[in-house]
Amino acid sequence: MEYDVAIVGSGPAGIHCALELIDKRPDLRIAIIERGKPIEYRHCPNSTIARGCRKCNPCHILAGWGGAGAFSDGKLTISTHVGGWLDEIIGEEKLAELIDYVDKRYLEHGAPKKLYGASPDKIEKWTRRAALVELQLIPQQIRHMGREGCISVMSSMYQQVAENAEVLFDTEAKDIRVDDNTAIGIETGNGRFISARYVVAAPGRVGNEWLAQQARRLSLSTENNYVDIGVRVEIPAPVMEDIANDLYEPKLVYYSKRFDDKVRLFCFNPGGVVTTEYYDEILTVNGQSFANMKTPNTNFALLVSTRFTAPFKHPIAYGQHIARLANMLGDGVLVQRLADLRRGKRSTKERISRSTVKPTLPSAEPGDLSFALPYRHLSSILEMIDALDKLCPGVASDNALLYGVEVKFYSARVRVNENLETEIHNLYAAGDGAGITRGLMQASVSGVIAARDILRKEGSTDQ
Ligand SMILES: Cc1cc2nc3c(=O)[nH]c(=O)nc-3n(C[C@H](O)[C@H](O)[C@H](O)COP(=O)(O)OP(=O)(O)OC[C@H]3O[C@@H](n4cnc5c(N)ncnc54)[C@H](O)[C@@H]3O)c2cc1C
Repeated sequence: MEYDVAIVGSGPAGIHCALELIDKRPDLRIAIIERGKPIEYRHCPNSTIARGCRKCNPCHILAGWGGAGAFSDGKLTISTHVGGWLDEIIGEEKLAELIDYVDKRYLEHGAPKKLYGASPDKIEKWTRRAALVELQLIPQQIRHMGREGCISVMSSMYQQVAENAEVLFDTEAKDIRVDDNTAIGIETGNGRFISARYVVAAPGRVGNEWLAQQARRLSLSTENNYVDIGVRVEIPAPVMEDIANDLYEPKLVYYSKRFDDKVRLFCFNPGGVVTTEYYDEILTVNGQSFANMKTPNTNFALLVSTRFTAPFKHPIAYGQHIARLANMLGDGVLVQRLADLRRGKRSTKERISRSTVKPTLPSAEPGDLSFALPYRHLSSILEMIDALDKLCPGVASDNALLYGVEVKFYSARVRVNENLETEIHNLYAAGDGAGITRGLMQASVSGVIAARDILRKEGSTDQ
């Protein structure tokens, strides 16, 4: 099986890599190796990634055509500050240009034309207000495909890719093969060798362990990535109604005074519910909102970002440890009233029932988050809650509920150059699995960057 390019993973990074190559050089022979199924055969027996997950292997939510993107909320974020760290690799200007390029491709495949987000006047208004209380507003616009829209867009992309490339479903990439420090192909789990002059590894978060293991095997350098640890805050919806109406999905950053740590507000769900996520036997918190069902509450995550330095090498294990501690204390997810946290008391069912905010995650166990979260994280989060209260009075009410813990792990970063080529010639690492992105838009952009470098090497001038 001889190809010019072998792509591991058919998530947004792999798909956009293939689309770019096909667009500019339809004569290239391309294989996409995907351990999951075609999109129409992806069915989660549990329908949510919550407790009760049947642990399918591979997981239908995360693996298959469209990757984790196919069943996502489908929010395409038009901002260089959101969804990854490509700005650190290619610079902000180039990233902005590529986001615009990829956005057009999503539109061609049926993404909705409507852009949510603020008008320049509203952005200016909230940027000013935020600055006065030491918060930084991250302006962004969102093209919201929704789950159905996302599936339809990914299906349309499949039509184009499948006409020009071979998509090998139910096929696991086992090893990246290298000769003379140059990639030569992929050995699959079912014993086939897929020869290719270029290999693009885009295995997503679900495949990050595989990529980390390949990096060790091939002696590629890796770097620690960030680990984001914090809580989900639930408040009455009217408290942040004005900012939500103006900005659609506010993203705010605060640098704590005590530790100078970055705390970010993200995943804002007006009228939404608090949910759980189950990964590697750990239950963590998340949030969701629905188009046609609204609760009287709003929830959002407040996360402290840390990037550990040498010699510590286990940021994921650190985050898991804290999540496990919360699970141990609450036999699952903990919930605490802000008043109780501040007074050093655990919440009880009775105390929670006195809160004006009725929890949307009734399975959360009332407890004491200060036993699970490090002082550093807790104090930075409380500082941000106070800053938010000045922007939107009521956020720091005694009744606010805090759920814990919410943790976001990102894959270890494989060292790449500005074209996403690794230390091995013609081997590229793209998307969430490479630890350089964490959202649909930047993952897609990373696929285009790798494709363009391959096109450059192939002498294509049309890039
Ligand atoms: C529930 C959920 C909701 C989300 N909502 C949003 C949102 O609204 N907006 C947003 O911007 N982002 C969202 N995200 C994040 C977004 O989905 C990811 O950032 C994006 O999909 C990453 O793209 P990727 O191509 O790097 O990897 P993935 O989409 O994870 O795709 C990787 C693919 O590689 C395959 N693979 C892995 N290892 C191997 C192997 N060894 N051999 C063969 N195949 C392999 C996997 O099966 C998978 O299909 C969401 C994620 C989840 C889980």
